[in-house]
Amino acid sequence: MADKVLIIEDEPTLARLVSYNLSQEGYEAEVVGNGAEGLHRAVNDNYAIIFLDLMLPGMNGFEVLQKIRQHAVKTPVIILTARNAEEEVVQGLQMGADDYITKPFGVAELLARASAVLRRSRNEENKPAVSVGGEKVIALGDLQIYPDRYEVFVNGQWITLRPKEFEVLLYLAERPGIVITRDDLMNVVWGFDYIGGQRTVDVHVSSLRKKLELSQQTVQIESIRGVGYKLIVNRKPSSPGR
Ligand code: CA
Repeated sequence: MADKVLIIEDEPTLARLVSYNLSQEGYEAEVVGNGAEGLHRAVNDNYAIIFLDLMLPGMNGFEVLQKIRQHAVKTPVIILTARNAEEEVVQGLQMGADDYITKPFGVAELLARASAVLRRSRNEENKPAVSVGGEKVIALGDLQIYPDRYEVFVNGQWITLRPKEFEVLLYLAERPGIVITRDDLMNVVWGFDYIGGQRTVDVHVSSLRKKLELSQQTVQIESIRGVGYKLIVNRKPSSPGR
């Protein structure tokens, strides 16, 4: 059955472009041009993904997003935002959006984001974590994390991580393909009362990256400028499917 997606966007040309390309890719796309109608559908119907423009007439995208989450609708939301609007992006992600696309965007980016978010939301019930002999293991590409033992293997080799590096990696690896803000990482790994700056996060990530170089380019931490990081798994070309 086709995945149904909702596009809440008031610019008809852009809405058509998004809708057309997602349909070509096998999604069933619905378009609405205002926030109130978008919210109504998001709450009353089942969608695999919601694409949400932030600048909408009447109820704006932030309000829509907030109300969607207040209704406990967990559908992944990808916000559509203007270029150079980092504050908007950060606010959107903090309000519960799962990812964002900056206008103007290409078809390839649109489809890649859609399938990453979808993969992630499916993994919610079926996380990358599996149980092996009663022990939890997170396996992504050639990366394996054993949370109980604080051990990480990359491409079959054991790597040593400092405790905070481990916690940063674990948090990202449990949410592959999803943008995690620096604030989130700070709060989760260092705690709300930590007084050091966000630079601490960057230092740990850059050290982690060096250690992940053993990975045969399948697992990488990508920077999202002004926002944060996401862990991506590049499937080897031999493995089919999207
Ligand atoms: Ca708009």
